[in-house]
Amino acid sequence: MHLTRFLRSQQQSLAHLVDLYAKYPPTGLTMKRIVQFAREGDAKQSYLFLRNELPVRLASMMKEMGHLPPRLLEMPSVKTVNGWYGTTLHELHSFKDSSPTNETVKKFTEVLQNIRKRHSTVIETLAQGYMEFSDQGSVKEYEESQIQYFLNRFYLSRISIRLLIYQHTMCFGDEVPVHPSHLGFVDPNCLVEEIIKDAFENAQFLCEGYYLTAPPLELRKINAINPEEPIAIAYVPSHLYHIMFELFKNSMRATVEHSESKKISGALPPIAVDVVKAKEDLTIRISDRGGGIPRSKADKIFRYMYSTAPRPVSLVDSQHSGPTPLAGFGYGLPISRLYARYFNGDLEIHSIDGYGTDAYIYLQAVEDQASEWLPICNRAA
Ligand code: ADP
Ligand code: MG
Repeated sequence: MHLTRFLRSQQQSLAHLVDLYAKYPPTGLTMKRIVQFAREGDAKQSYLFLRNELPVRLASMMKEMGHLPPRLLEMPSVKTVNGWYGTTLHELHSFKDSSPTNETVKKFTEVLQNIRKRHSTVIETLAQGYMEFSDQGSVKEYEESQIQYFLNRFYLSRISIRLLIYQHTMCFGDEVPVHPSHLGFVDPNCLVEEIIKDAFENAQFLCEGYYLTAPPLELRKINAINPEEPIAIAYVPSHLYHIMFELFKNSMRATVEHSESKKISGALPPIAVDVVKAKEDLTIRISDRGGGIPRSKADKIFRYMYSTAPRPVSLVDSQHSGPTPLAGFGYGLPISRLYARYFNGDLEIHSIDGYGTDAYIYLQAVEDQASEWLPICNRAA
């Protein structure tokens, strides 16, 4: 067949696949179901669920991509990401067997691992695409809000897809969980304090590398249900870590820069963290004295690419010299809020201009209330 004709027929069949799967709404899961399935399910059941569910979630995002500004879709990095989605959808669609052999399931697991690798730099690559787009000419306000709206849905969907893939490869494949007590990517007894301390130490390390100083941590905790017990919930440890790490970096940068600009000498004011577990909510409040955010900027901080720090050299290529900057991508807050919202939680920022900022993270303390929050959702009972 002539090459262009071949390529066109490939594209047509891709469009057909996208339409086919995008007709179905995704099936949202609760944390309780995920934990239960990790304990009681098997690789074949997982295969049967995922070979439909993953294409459904992928296809609905591919369809939404079509509504982005046409000029943005022409950017090389955006095309690259689009291409990855196409390849992945084709690969998943090729698993048609509804009573699979062990061999098929094994092959499926390998394909999932590959897919995860293929898509590992989607965020950076799309951000690069946005830069290519904005370097070409000014971005109109309606384009900007179209893009922001899309990115929220797209990244949320990506978080969910990755969780499903990890659950399969770690529970039923040969990848081992980070800790033996974890069920795949999920920890049924996630010790919140440990994660907070870990994230704080790593942010502090970066902060000291960049500014040669860092504020200390002041941690208070209350378990309102069982005062003697450590605070734990069923959660995805890496998600909580991500949120805490991003918020700590922000608070540290603000604290150091504010103290320097005000020529405040002596020890830096601590970053105070309060963790409270009650019957329904697990709440974490991070309070800093980094000078706060004026109200005129308050609705911008959750925008992708919004940052008051200098733009880092490159997003995809990490071969830059000098210490790793603490900020500048403008992805910290919007992505952290998605992680918090993904299992029915939330992230809010309240600030006092001239003084400091409080970040509130709300997570569901009850497993069956923590249901996946997806762009379009048809919740399973
Ligand atoms: P980045 O850190 O890469 O700039 P973020 O999304 O994490 O991106 O934050 C966006 C912006 O919000 C920051 O550049 C900063 O101006 C503001 N900001 C976030 N957290 C704080 C804070 N604790 N105190 C003051 N300003 C903050
Ligand atoms: Mg940040």
